[in-house]
Amino acid sequence: MSLTKSVKVGDLLMGGEWPVSIQTMWKDSLPVFSGPDDLRLLSVIEKMSDLKRLGCSIIRFAVPDISAAESLGLLAGRSPLPVVADIHFDWRIALRCMDFPVAKIRINPGNIGAEWKVREVAVKAMDKGIPIRIGINGGSLPKDLVQEHDTVEAALMAAEREIEVLESMRFSDIVVSLKMNEPDEVIRANEAFAARYPYPLHLGVTEAGPLVAGIVRNTAALVPLLKKGIGATIRVSLSDSMEQEVIAGKEILGCAGKNAHGVRIVSCPRCGRASFDTHAFTSRWMNKLYSLEADISVAVMGCVVNGPGEARHADLGITGAGNSVLIFKHGEIIRKIDARDADKAFQEELEKLLKEKAK
Ligand code: SF4
Repeated sequence: MSLTKSVKVGDLLMGGEWPVSIQTMWKDSLPVFSGPDDLRLLSVIEKMSDLKRLGCSIIRFAVPDISAAESLGLLAGRSPLPVVADIHFDWRIALRCMDFPVAKIRINPGNIGAEWKVREVAVKAMDKGIPIRIGINGGSLPKDLVQEHDTVEAALMAAEREIEVLESMRFSDIVVSLKMNEPDEVIRANEAFAARYPYPLHLGVTEAGPLVAGIVRNTAALVPLLKKGIGATIRVSLSDSMEQEVIAGKEILGCAGKNAHGVRIVSCPRCGRASFDTHAFTSRWMNKLYSLEADISVAVMGCVVNGPGEARHADLGITGAGNSVLIFKHGEIIRKIDARDADKAFQEELEKLLKEKAK
Protein backbone atom coordinates (compact mmCIF):
# COMPACT_ATOMS: atom_id res chain seq x y z
CA MET A 1 0.00 0.00 0.00
CA SER A 2 1.49 3.38 -0.96
CA LEU A 3 2.05 5.96 1.74
CA THR A 4 -0.66 8.48 2.48
CA LYS A 5 -0.23 12.20 2.92
CA SER A 6 0.94 13.36 6.35
CA VAL A 7 -1.38 15.61 8.29
CA LYS A 8 -0.37 17.64 11.32
CA VAL A 9 -2.81 17.30 14.21
CA GLY A 10 -1.56 19.69 16.88
CA ASP A 11 1.98 18.49 17.56
CA LEU A 12 1.25 15.00 16.22
CA LEU A 13 1.95 13.87 12.67
CA MET A 14 -0.50 11.41 11.22
CA GLY A 15 -0.23 9.33 8.02
CA GLY A 16 2.81 8.92 5.80
CA GLU A 17 5.51 6.98 7.63
CA TRP A 18 4.45 8.18 11.07
CA PRO A 19 3.46 5.57 13.65
CA VAL A 20 -0.20 4.66 13.92
CA SER A 21 -1.62 6.65 16.83
CA ILE A 22 -4.25 5.68 19.37
CA GLN A 23 -7.07 7.98 20.29
CA THR A 24 -10.12 7.95 22.47
CA MET A 25 -13.15 10.11 23.05
CA TRP A 26 -14.09 11.86 26.29
CA LYS A 27 -17.10 10.02 27.67
CA ASP A 28 -18.95 12.86 29.44
CA SER A 29 -20.11 16.34 28.60
CA LEU A 30 -17.68 19.06 29.61
CA PRO A 31 -18.83 21.27 32.48
CA VAL A 32 -19.08 25.02 31.95
CA PHE A 33 -15.71 26.00 33.46
CA SER A 34 -15.59 29.20 35.48
CA GLY A 35 -12.05 29.94 34.30
CA PRO A 36 -8.56 28.48 33.89
CA ASP A 37 -8.29 27.68 37.61
CA ASP A 38 -11.58 25.79 37.83
CA LEU A 39 -10.78 22.56 39.70
CA ARG A 40 -13.00 20.59 37.31
CA LEU A 41 -10.82 21.78 34.42
CA LEU A 42 -7.68 20.76 36.29
CA SER A 43 -9.15 17.34 36.94
CA VAL A 44 -9.94 16.88 33.21
CA ILE A 45 -6.34 17.84 32.39
CA GLU A 46 -5.02 15.40 34.99
CA LYS A 47 -7.11 12.58 33.54
CA MET A 48 -5.84 13.45 30.07
CA SER A 49 -2.26 13.22 31.36
CA ASP A 50 -3.03 9.75 32.73
CA LEU A 51 -4.43 8.73 29.33
CA LYS A 52 -1.31 10.06 27.62
CA ARG A 53 0.91 7.98 29.93
CA LEU A 54 -1.24 4.96 29.08
CA GLY A 55 -0.54 5.41 25.34
CA CYS A 56 -3.24 7.77 24.10
CA SER A 57 -2.05 10.33 21.54
CA ILE A 58 -5.22 12.27 20.65
CA ILE A 59 -8.49 12.96 22.41
CA ARG A 60 -11.83 13.98 20.94
CA PHE A 61 -14.64 15.85 22.62
CA ALA A 62 -18.27 16.11 21.57
CA VAL A 63 -19.17 19.78 21.16
CA PRO A 64 -22.97 19.89 21.03
CA ASP A 65 -23.40 23.61 21.71
CA ILE A 66 -21.60 26.92 22.02
CA SER A 67 -21.08 26.61 25.78
CA ALA A 68 -19.29 23.30 25.18
CA ALA A 69 -17.13 25.08 22.59
CA GLU A 70 -16.17 27.68 25.24
CA SER A 71 -15.26 24.92 27.71
CA LEU A 72 -13.24 23.11 25.05
CA GLY A 73 -11.49 26.37 24.27
CA LEU A 74 -10.34 26.76 27.86
CA LEU A 75 -9.15 23.18 27.84
CA ALA A 76 -7.45 23.17 24.42
CA GLY A 77 -4.84 25.76 25.40
CA ARG A 78 -3.68 23.71 28.37
CA SER A 79 -4.22 20.20 27.12
CA PRO A 80 -1.43 17.60 27.32
CA LEU A 81 -2.93 15.94 24.20
CA PRO A 82 -4.09 17.28 20.83
CA VAL A 83 -7.79 18.06 21.20
CA VAL A 84 -10.30 17.26 18.47
CA ALA A 85 -13.68 19.00 18.35
CA ASP A 86 -16.47 16.69 17.23
CA ILE A 87 -19.20 18.66 15.46
CA HIS A 88 -22.61 17.48 14.39
CA PHE A 89 -25.34 19.60 12.80
CA ASP A 90 -24.23 23.16 13.60
CA TRP A 91 -21.26 24.45 11.58
CA ARG A 92 -21.18 27.64 13.71
CA ILE A 93 -19.93 25.58 16.64
CA ALA A 94 -17.00 24.43 14.48
CA LEU A 95 -16.22 28.06 13.70
CA ARG A 96 -16.20 28.97 17.38
CA CYS A 97 -14.00 26.00 18.29
CA MET A 98 -11.42 27.18 15.79
CA ASP A 99 -10.99 30.44 17.73
CA PHE A 100 -9.11 28.21 20.18
CA PRO A 101 -6.05 25.99 19.67
CA VAL A 102 -7.98 22.84 18.75
CA ALA A 103 -5.92 20.33 16.79
CA LYS A 104 -8.60 19.01 14.43
CA ILE A 105 -12.27 19.39 13.58
CA ARG A 106 -14.42 16.35 12.91
CA ILE A 107 -17.53 16.85 10.82
CA ASN A 108 -20.12 14.28 9.82
CA PRO A 109 -21.37 14.75 6.26
CA GLY A 110 -24.61 12.97 7.19
CA ASN A 111 -25.72 15.80 9.42
CA ILE A 112 -23.63 18.93 8.87
CA GLY A 113 -26.04 19.97 6.11
CA ALA A 114 -25.57 22.16 3.03
CA GLU A 115 -22.29 22.40 1.15
CA TRP A 116 -21.85 26.09 1.93
CA LYS A 117 -21.63 25.24 5.63
CA VAL A 118 -18.76 22.84 4.97
CA ARG A 119 -17.09 25.58 2.89
CA GLU A 120 -17.39 28.04 5.77
CA VAL A 121 -15.76 25.55 8.12
CA ALA A 122 -13.00 24.82 5.58
CA VAL A 123 -12.21 28.51 5.01
CA LYS A 124 -11.55 29.04 8.69
CA ALA A 125 -9.73 25.72 9.08
CA MET A 126 -7.42 26.65 6.22
CA ASP A 127 -6.79 30.06 7.74
CA LYS A 128 -5.92 28.51 11.12
CA GLY A 129 -4.02 25.50 9.75
CA ILE A 130 -6.45 23.05 11.37
CA PRO A 131 -7.13 19.72 9.63
CA ILE A 132 -10.63 18.36 9.11
CA ARG A 133 -11.72 14.79 9.59
CA ILE A 134 -14.57 13.73 7.38
CA GLY A 135 -16.18 11.30 9.78
CA ILE A 136 -18.48 8.98 7.86
CA ASN A 137 -20.71 6.86 10.04
CA GLY A 138 -22.79 3.95 8.71
CA GLY A 139 -25.69 4.93 10.95
CA SER A 140 -25.95 8.51 9.69
CA LEU A 141 -25.22 8.44 5.98
CA PRO A 142 -26.74 11.08 3.70
CA LYS A 143 -30.29 9.91 2.98
CA ASP A 144 -30.12 10.24 -0.80
CA LEU A 145 -27.10 7.92 -0.90
CA VAL A 146 -28.54 5.26 1.39
CA GLN A 147 -31.67 4.93 -0.74
CA GLU A 148 -29.67 4.09 -3.86
CA HIS A 149 -26.59 2.23 -2.61
CA ASP A 150 -25.40 -0.34 -0.12
CA THR A 151 -23.77 0.94 3.08
CA VAL A 152 -20.18 0.63 1.91
CA GLU A 153 -20.79 2.35 -1.42
CA ALA A 154 -22.90 5.06 0.22
CA ALA A 155 -20.13 5.70 2.76
CA LEU A 156 -17.50 5.98 0.04
CA MET A 157 -19.69 8.32 -1.99
CA ALA A 158 -20.37 10.49 1.05
CA ALA A 159 -16.62 10.79 1.64
CA GLU A 160 -16.05 11.52 -2.04
CA ARG A 161 -18.58 14.36 -2.04
CA GLU A 162 -16.95 16.04 0.91
CA ILE A 163 -13.43 15.54 -0.46
CA GLU A 164 -14.49 17.16 -3.74
CA VAL A 165 -15.77 20.20 -1.87
CA LEU A 166 -12.56 20.54 0.14
CA GLU A 167 -10.26 19.87 -2.81
CA SER A 168 -12.11 22.47 -4.89
CA MET A 169 -10.97 24.95 -2.23
CA ARG A 170 -7.42 23.55 -2.33
CA PHE A 171 -7.89 22.25 1.19
CA SER A 172 -5.92 19.05 1.64
CA ASP A 173 -5.37 18.63 5.39
CA ILE A 174 -7.95 15.90 5.33
CA VAL A 175 -8.36 12.79 7.45
CA VAL A 176 -11.22 10.39 6.69
CA SER A 177 -13.01 7.74 8.72
CA LEU A 178 -15.47 5.19 7.37
CA LYS A 179 -17.02 3.55 10.40
CA MET A 180 -19.66 0.88 10.27
CA ASN A 181 -20.87 -1.70 12.74
CA GLU A 182 -20.00 -4.76 10.65
CA PRO A 183 -16.25 -5.50 10.62
CA ASP A 184 -16.44 -6.79 7.03
CA GLU A 185 -18.00 -3.51 5.89
CA VAL A 186 -15.32 -1.51 7.69
CA ILE A 187 -12.64 -3.56 5.93
CA ARG A 188 -14.24 -3.21 2.48
CA ALA A 189 -14.85 0.51 2.80
CA ASN A 190 -11.36 1.33 4.06
CA GLU A 191 -9.61 -0.88 1.51
CA ALA A 192 -11.53 0.75 -1.32
CA PHE A 193 -10.83 4.22 0.03
CA ALA A 194 -7.10 3.55 0.52
CA ALA A 195 -6.84 2.34 -3.09
CA ARG A 196 -8.37 5.58 -4.39
CA TYR A 197 -7.27 8.43 -2.12
CA PRO A 198 -4.03 9.67 -0.56
CA TYR A 199 -5.59 10.85 2.70
CA PRO A 200 -4.83 9.22 6.07
CA LEU A 201 -7.53 7.03 7.53
CA HIS A 202 -8.85 7.03 11.07
CA LEU A 203 -10.00 3.44 11.66
CA GLY A 204 -12.77 2.24 13.92
CA VAL A 205 -15.99 0.27 14.27
CA THR A 206 -19.02 2.31 15.18
CA GLU A 207 -21.25 1.31 18.10
CA ALA A 208 -18.94 -1.66 18.56
CA GLY A 209 -20.56 -2.79 21.81
CA PRO A 210 -19.54 -3.62 25.38
CA LEU A 211 -15.97 -4.48 26.35
CA VAL A 212 -15.61 -8.01 25.00
CA ALA A 213 -17.83 -7.71 21.91
CA GLY A 214 -16.37 -4.33 21.11
CA ILE A 215 -12.77 -5.50 21.29
CA VAL A 216 -13.52 -8.58 19.20
CA ARG A 217 -15.28 -6.57 16.49
CA ASN A 218 -12.62 -3.90 16.42
CA THR A 219 -9.85 -6.48 16.27
CA ALA A 220 -11.59 -8.34 13.44
CA ALA A 221 -11.85 -5.12 11.43
CA LEU A 222 -8.68 -3.26 12.30
CA VAL A 223 -5.96 -5.93 12.37
CA PRO A 224 -6.39 -7.00 8.70
CA LEU A 225 -6.39 -3.35 7.61
CA LEU A 226 -3.37 -2.39 9.70
CA LYS A 227 -1.45 -5.41 8.42
CA LYS A 228 -1.98 -4.10 4.90
CA GLY A 229 -0.60 -0.73 5.93
CA ILE A 230 -4.03 0.91 5.99
CA GLY A 231 -4.81 3.23 8.89
CA ALA A 232 -3.01 6.21 10.41
CA THR A 233 -4.87 6.37 13.71
CA ILE A 234 -7.32 4.13 15.53
CA ARG A 235 -10.08 4.54 18.03
CA VAL A 236 -11.48 1.39 19.62
CA SER A 237 -14.93 2.55 20.61
CA LEU A 238 -16.29 0.58 23.55
CA SER A 239 -19.19 0.90 25.96
CA ASP A 240 -16.50 1.05 28.60
CA SER A 241 -13.84 3.39 29.92
CA MET A 242 -11.39 5.49 27.92
CA GLU A 243 -8.56 3.57 29.59
CA GLN A 244 -9.91 0.29 28.23
CA GLU A 245 -10.19 1.85 24.77
CA VAL A 246 -6.55 2.90 24.87
CA ILE A 247 -5.32 -0.45 26.19
CA ALA A 248 -7.38 -2.27 23.55
CA GLY A 249 -5.84 0.01 20.93
CA LYS A 250 -2.32 -0.86 22.11
CA GLU A 251 -3.07 -4.58 21.98
CA ILE A 252 -4.64 -4.30 18.51
CA LEU A 253 -1.59 -2.45 17.20
CA GLY A 254 0.61 -5.14 18.77
CA CYS A 255 -1.42 -7.92 17.06
CA ALA A 256 -0.99 -6.10 13.75
CA GLY A 257 2.78 -5.85 14.26
CA LYS A 258 2.68 -2.07 14.73
CA ASN A 259 4.36 -0.02 17.44
CA ALA A 260 5.16 -3.17 19.40
CA HIS A 261 6.63 -1.26 22.34
CA GLY A 262 5.76 -1.05 25.98
CA VAL A 263 4.73 -3.62 28.52
CA ARG A 264 3.36 -6.97 27.48
CA ILE A 265 1.21 -8.59 30.15
CA VAL A 266 0.86 -12.35 30.17
CA SER A 267 -1.64 -13.68 32.68
CA CYS A 268 -3.22 -17.07 33.16
CA PRO A 269 -7.00 -17.52 33.12
CA ARG A 270 -6.92 -19.14 36.63
CA CYS A 271 -8.27 -22.59 37.38
CA GLY A 272 -8.80 -24.95 40.33
CA ARG A 273 -5.04 -25.15 40.90
CA ALA A 274 -4.72 -21.43 41.58
CA SER A 275 -3.52 -20.17 44.93
CA PHE A 276 -3.16 -16.61 43.70
CA ASP A 277 -5.94 -14.41 42.33
CA THR A 278 -4.59 -13.47 38.92
CA HIS A 279 -7.79 -11.57 38.03
CA ALA A 280 -7.63 -9.22 40.99
CA PHE A 281 -3.87 -8.67 40.70
CA THR A 282 -4.08 -7.95 36.96
CA SER A 283 -6.97 -5.50 37.43
CA ARG A 284 -5.05 -3.66 40.15
CA TRP A 285 -1.86 -3.40 38.12
CA MET A 286 -3.09 -3.12 34.54
CA ASN A 287 -3.19 0.66 34.08
CA LYS A 288 0.06 1.13 35.95
CA LEU A 289 1.87 -1.47 33.86
CA TYR A 290 0.49 -0.20 30.55
CA SER A 291 1.65 3.29 31.50
CA LEU A 292 5.31 2.23 31.71
CA GLU A 293 7.49 3.07 28.74
CA ALA A 294 9.82 0.10 29.16
CA ASP A 295 9.76 -2.82 26.72
CA ILE A 296 9.25 -5.62 29.24
CA SER A 297 6.98 -8.62 29.65
CA VAL A 298 5.23 -9.31 32.94
CA ALA A 299 3.59 -12.61 33.87
CA VAL A 300 0.80 -13.05 36.41
CA MET A 301 0.22 -16.76 37.00
CA GLY A 302 -2.13 -18.55 39.37
CA CYS A 303 -0.01 -21.47 40.51
CA VAL A 304 3.49 -22.80 40.68
CA VAL A 305 2.55 -25.97 38.75
CA ASN A 306 2.59 -24.16 35.41
CA GLY A 307 3.36 -20.58 36.39
CA PRO A 308 7.11 -19.92 36.26
CA GLY A 309 7.68 -22.59 33.60
CA GLU A 310 5.02 -21.43 31.17
CA ALA A 311 6.02 -17.84 31.72
CA ARG A 312 9.79 -18.35 31.64
CA HIS A 313 10.15 -15.74 28.87
CA ALA A 314 8.78 -13.06 31.23
CA ASP A 315 11.16 -10.40 32.55
CA LEU A 316 9.20 -10.40 35.79
CA GLY A 317 6.52 -12.74 37.04
CA ILE A 318 4.39 -13.45 40.08
CA THR A 319 2.60 -16.62 41.03
CA GLY A 320 0.94 -18.32 43.99
CA ALA A 321 2.50 -21.22 45.93
CA GLY A 322 0.21 -22.39 48.73
CA ASN A 323 -0.09 -19.53 51.20
CA SER A 324 2.94 -17.82 49.72
CA VAL A 325 3.62 -15.87 46.60
CA LEU A 326 6.67 -16.32 44.40
CA ILE A 327 8.30 -13.68 42.27
CA PHE A 328 10.37 -14.90 39.37
CA LYS A 329 12.52 -13.59 36.57
CA HIS A 330 12.85 -15.62 33.37
CA GLY A 331 11.47 -18.65 35.19
CA GLU A 332 13.92 -18.40 38.10
CA ILE A 333 12.36 -17.79 41.52
CA ILE A 334 13.94 -14.78 43.20
CA ARG A 335 11.61 -14.14 46.15
CA LYS A 336 9.13 -16.01 48.32
CA ILE A 337 6.80 -13.81 50.36
CA ASP A 338 3.58 -13.84 52.31
CA ALA A 339 0.57 -13.27 50.02
CA ARG A 340 -0.27 -10.06 51.92
CA ASP A 341 3.03 -8.55 50.79
CA ALA A 342 2.59 -9.44 47.12
CA ASP A 343 1.95 -5.92 45.80
CA LYS A 344 4.76 -4.34 47.79
CA ALA A 345 7.31 -6.98 46.78
CA PHE A 346 6.20 -6.86 43.16
CA GLN A 347 6.57 -3.08 43.16
CA GLU A 348 10.11 -3.34 44.54
CA GLU A 349 11.16 -5.91 41.94
CA LEU A 350 9.53 -3.94 39.15
CA GLU A 351 11.46 -0.82 40.14
CA LYS A 352 14.72 -2.80 40.18
CA LEU A 353 13.94 -4.23 36.75
CA LEU A 354 13.15 -0.81 35.30
CA LYS A 355 16.45 0.54 36.63
CA GLU A 356 18.33 -2.39 35.04
CA LYS A 357 16.57 -1.78 31.72
CA ALA A 358 17.33 1.92 31.84
CA LYS A 359 21.11 1.31 32.11
S1 SF4 B 1 -1.06 -21.25 35.73
FE1 SF4 B 1 -1.94 -22.67 37.23
S2 SF4 B 1 -3.79 -21.60 37.96
FE2 SF4 B 1 -3.20 -20.62 36.05
S3 SF4 B 1 -4.42 -21.71 34.52
FE3 SF4 B 1 -2.40 -22.66 34.58
S4 SF4 B 1 -2.67 -24.38 35.98
FE4 SF4 B 1 -4.42 -22.99 36.32
